[in-house]
Amino acid sequence: MEMKPQRVIADLCRQFYHQGWATGTGGGISIRENGRVYMAPSGVQKERIEEDDIFVLDEQGEVLEAPKKPGLKVSECSSLFYNAFRLRDAGAVLHSHSINALLVTLLSRDAVGGVATSKDVFECTQIEMMKGLAGHGYYDTVQVPIIDNTARECDLADRMADAMKAFPKSHAVLVRRHGVYIWGRDWVHAKTQAECYHYLFEAAVRMRQLGLDASVGEPHVRALEADKGYAAVVASASAGGGKR
Ligand code: ZN
Repeated sequence: MEMKPQRVIADLCRQFYHQGWATGTGGGISIRENGRVYMAPSGVQKERIEEDDIFVLDEQGEVLEAPKKPGLKVSECSSLFYNAFRLRDAGAVLHSHSINALLVTLLSRDAVGGVATSKDVFECTQIEMMKGLAGHGYYDTVQVPIIDNTARECDLADRMADAMKAFPKSHAVLVRRHGVYIWGRDWVHAKTQAECYHYLFEAAVRMRQLGLDASVGEPHVRALEADKGYAAVVASASAGGGKR
């Protein structure tokens, strides 16, 4: 039997808490199913959420069912979740405060006029887990836009929408010094996308600690077109025509 979205949200919030994505009441997930949007309340311990604590909204953002428990407010991230529902027809969106998501927003610094400024896109290439992301192959470059944080989370909505339009291949938007929003066609897809993105973020952070750059692939492979493949290069090299 299919699980109720409320049950799925409660289970996933617990899981995300233990993964370090939703500690200190931050982070969470929203599911859209059959014209209804299910969302956790704001400012509560995500690992202790019960099915009865979940808000049910319509696709316009109006609350249809509020939890009986007094004092619960609908998530601060509501307008950000709706960005993914409206602009990408997403079936689920999650928000993570993972430390690695935060760190990658600080990794890339461009020198502009002698002043180090943050880049507004995270990039990586040639990492196997990229293949778990919709529309990406091993030789592609994964790009995730980075938007600047705001004092109030709901004020991020416009810049998040702009970033989503500018990077149509991305299933995620990073928020500088804050975390990341990731979506998918349903909660299973959103969860796997999130796992792949978090893996790549962690890989990039660890590579930087080793003095490596996740946006730079192997030079001899990087020179290839993805569709030729390694075997073609080896064959052409052994035939004497290979260029490295
Ligand atoms: Zn947040």
